Amino acid sequence: MIPRSHPRYESLMTRELIVEGVKKGITSIQGLIAQGRGEAFDYLIGEKSLQNALHSEKVAAAKLLLARKPVISVNGNAAALVPEELIRLSELINAPLEVNLFHRTEERVDKIIRHLRTLGARNIFTQSDALIPGLLHDRAKVDSDGIFSADVVLVPLEDGDRCKALVDMGKTVIAIDLNPLSRTAQCVTVTIVDNITRAVPHISKFAEELKGLKKEELLEMVRDYDNKNTISIAIDEIKNNLESFSTYHDS
Ligand code: ATP
Ligand code: MG
Repeated sequence: MIPRSHPRYESLMTRELIVEGVKKGITSIQGLIAQGRGEAFDYLIGEKSLQNALHSEKVAAAKLLLARKPVISVNGNAAALVPEELIRLSELINAPLEVNLFHRTEERVDKIIRHLRTLGARNIFTQSDALIPGLLHDRAKVDSDGIFSADVVLVPLEDGDRCKALVDMGKTVIAIDLNPLSRTAQCVTVTIVDNITRAVPHISKFAEELKGLKKEELLEMVRDYDNKNTISIAIDEIKNNLESFSTYHDS
């Protein structure tokens, strides 16, 4: 039992959810390593949503609302950490879910689909009848009605290669990735440098707020978005945090 008073309670609870995910067979062992890398970057940004991340989350919400055919990709870490929040977002913006795994086994795909359905998900693409061009067979499998034909894809924790392949297909790709240096962060349309546990509820909150706006107003909101700028602001924040840590220890 982790006491609520522990200064890193949230982070430790998140770690527990990933461990549970591995035990249930919905998260891969490699997912533990990804979580560790994420935790390190979360530490560096102060374990909170930066202003810059909130801006990306708002732009993400606007782009999802503007989409003709939005799809939310779900991997084993996302399914363990924020299944209910993803289902809620999916309903709110009318974007079905699709399980998309780097270390793909049909058994794990089925387990995640069942897990999501048990929690109330109604709209999940479950076929794997199309391939993303340029990727090796198993990692390329997607649903022809889902990610394959989507115009906007939200990919919480995706690998750089696959993001690049989706971008190359002409899609708008929104990634949630705590590491602003990752290939994922660098190649997508919108990078959200935030923990998935904070980012998904924020996107839903913004989607609710923006839902009533006209198309032109949403377009206006996303027009000036510059992902390179987002990444450099996030890196600057990390630099500043490191500097203030070192000043603190010097004095
Ligand atoms: P690249 O994008 O450079 O190809 P990668 O995707 O192969 O790298 P992984 O370690 O497999 O690298 O990916 C995990 C990524 O997910 C890391 O960049 C990590 O920061 C991020 N990550 C892990 N847990 C979380 C989380 N809870 N919230 C947001 N991002 C996370
Ligand atoms: Mg990545």
